[in-house]
Amino acid sequence: MSHALTKIKAAGFVVELDGMDLAVSPFSKLTPPQVLFLKAHKAEIIQELKQEKASNDNHAPEHVLVEDDRHYCSECQHLNYLGRCKASPTRYSPADTHPRRCAIYLGIKK
Ligand code: SF4
Repeated sequence: MSHALTKIKAAGFVVELDGMDLAVSPFSKLTPPQVLFLKAHKAEIIQELKQEKASNDNHAPEHVLVEDDRHYCSECQHLNYLGRCKASPTRYSPADTHPRRCAIYLGIKK
């Protein structure tokens, strides 16, 4: 981190990029010498913030798509036309309001 950016952050200010400009908050708390300091080091601070942003973007976690392995009983060949599970000894009628993970799910009906 550049000396100028470190110094202004150490003084308790949040410094961010605002387009091609700087946004400093709380701006009203800046003293006149701090305003002059920021003006004098503006280009250096902007460059540093751009490098930080680029570095953060490069280290952002990639989104991982996880395949949903749940199924509706209505997609299973074990579900008969009466809505009962043929694979179940009791031939119960599974509620099919949500997908489930079933160890004996049998393929998608075609
Ligand atoms: S085997 Fe599992 S997924 Fe298939 S109908 Fe029965 S309960 Fe549903």
